[in-house]
Amino acid sequence: MKIIDVEAIWLRIPSFGELCEWGEDAFLVKVHTDTGLIGIGESDSAPAVLKALIETPSSHSTSRGLREILLGENPLDIDRLWNKMYDESSYMGRRGAAIHAISAIDIALWDIASQHYGVPIHTLLGGKVRDEIAAYGTFIPKDKPADNVTLVEGLLEAGFSSLKLGGGLFGTDPTHDHEVLQVVRDTAGENIDLAIDLVYRWKNYRYAKTQGDRMREFNLNWIEEPLPSDDHLGLRRLAETSESRISGGEGLSTVAEFTEFIRESRPDIIQPDITRCGGISEMRKIHYVATRYSTQLVPHGFSTGILMAATVQFLASIRDGELIEFSQSTSALSLDLVTNPIVLTNGKVTVPDTPGLGIELDEDLISKYRVEMTLGTRL
Ligand SMILES: [Mg+2]
Repeated sequence: MKIIDVEAIWLRIPSFGELCEWGEDAFLVKVHTDTGLIGIGESDSAPAVLKALIETPSSHSTSRGLREILLGENPLDIDRLWNKMYDESSYMGRRGAAIHAISAIDIALWDIASQHYGVPIHTLLGGKVRDEIAAYGTFIPKDKPADNVTLVEGLLEAGFSSLKLGGGLFGTDPTHDHEVLQVVRDTAGENIDLAIDLVYRWKNYRYAKTQGDRMREFNLNWIEEPLPSDDHLGLRRLAETSESRISGGEGLSTVAEFTEFIRESRPDIIQPDITRCGGISEMRKIHYVATRYSTQLVPHGFSTGILMAATVQFLASIRDGELIEFSQSTSALSLDLVTNPIVLTNGKVTVPDTPGLGIELDEDLISKYRVEMTLGTRL
């Protein structure tokens, strides 16, 4: 079997110039083979940048386009191809966007291998250790604290026993944050796990410590990204002094970067995103390091059904893969791109036993939102 094309697909729900808070864009790859098998992957990143990293003509031996690197290769050689992509894109890669693009391709290669061998991806990863995974619901709180009552009631009705809020105005005004949390905790009750996501908004250690202590009464499940991931000392001091668990790492990539993060920042929880950290292959290595440092892995996931399918396969195969993020986005790309998505039942998702990612894409939706761009195109 040989790879005959790597198709880089940028989807965007108009309009440009606005931030995509709820998944209004997406980046997919389809890896085509000469046997007709097609692998699907995605990355939750900047689509135009990733498309360029895949389609760029090669410059020199360490600045090659990922598509060129893969053409003619055997897609079953996943580890060899991962290393080849990493090595031959290393001048513009090693971290960040190039690893995001490699993540999408890696997921597609696992999809191909699993279809080829006719067994689920979790079997290729060493075997399934659970049939269901508890999900936590992530939501952006309404600006007006009282408006969150209905929102939280809806999440409880969906069966969630674990929630996380972040974004919107949250983290910008301590008094407002307190009011929002009061409404959410009162509505959810004491038996629901409740986490918060600061998206780096707490500036420095002293400020974060003060805010975290003020929120003690809400019994938070974890405090996510209170400080930038590169503020290792601040994060470590927080992890050592905070009563709540500290989490982070959704923007990091490669086991090398995660190893540094874990060793320097000592988070209680790391949150690699399978579509950014280097794909299923690198996620396995990151998990191995996390277990050596008493760190829990709860993956980040806030995109389409492709990410969800890949994350479920990975979590099904690890002993402590007990919690998955479940986006509450209402974007068409989140809800409809995959026509047979993994669904939530009583706050849990069921692990599929079909070969491959087991998903089908809505090709009409892809045609409708596809952004045609070649190198040099100005939008
Ligand atoms: Mg987050």
